Amino acid sequence: MAKSIILVAGSPGAGKTTVLKEAGVSLDCKIVNMGTTMLEVGQKLGYVTDRDQIRYLSLKKFNEVRNKALDEIEKVAGNILIDTHASVGENGRYLPGFPVSFLNKLGHVKGLIYIDAPTKDIIERRSDDPSRKREHDDAHTIDAQRLINISMLSFASAYLNIPLYVVINRQDSLRKTVAEIKGRVHEVLGASD
Ligand code: AMP
Ligand code: MG
Repeated sequence: MAKSIILVAGSPGAGKTTVLKEAGVSLDCKIVNMGTTMLEVGQKLGYVTDRDQIRYLSLKKFNEVRNKALDEIEKVAGNILIDTHASVGENGRYLPGFPVSFLNKLGHVKGLIYIDAPTKDIIERRSDDPSRKREHDDAHTIDAQRLINISMLSFASAYLNIPLYVVINRQDSLRKTVAEIKGRVHEVLGASD
């Protein structure tokens, strides 16, 4: 049973996974990638073969995969940082990354971290990543999704009465971002004692 869970969200390309990988080394937390857990569940069910297919599933299958992924995450002991998304965007449609049913089911969520980056850096990182089939959104679309993400996170913060932190991952400042994330994680874990 997890002690404390922190949801870490960010626009695709903001650098969330890279930052968490670095930060996780010295933290008393397991890092669970929601996309990877959903991919494993979706593969077992025969729904997807690639993580970038998940957002195109029917709503029924999308929710089924996410619920089964949450069942897996519930089995993880200790503190957990969940690498996830506040909204899942697909061609102008946005689905909530953590609806009320998710927040109620998971329990133990003590903090929210939003890793953001300047829009131009997000555009560059997405086009430099051939391993992914990401949306190639323009600056206005990325800015719109940032508003939606912050709205989703603000809702979760108010619903659970927990803090929301916004960390900006600037180009060439990975070390600074990592240090900031570690500080915030310590703050959340310390406050839950
Ligand atoms: P990522 O590798 O972090 O971009 O995650 C891969 C995919 O997993 C995303 O494109 C989403 O389709 C899915 N995913 C991750 N987190 C969530 C979430 N909280 N709710 C729904 N889908 C999610
Ligand atoms: Mg990622």
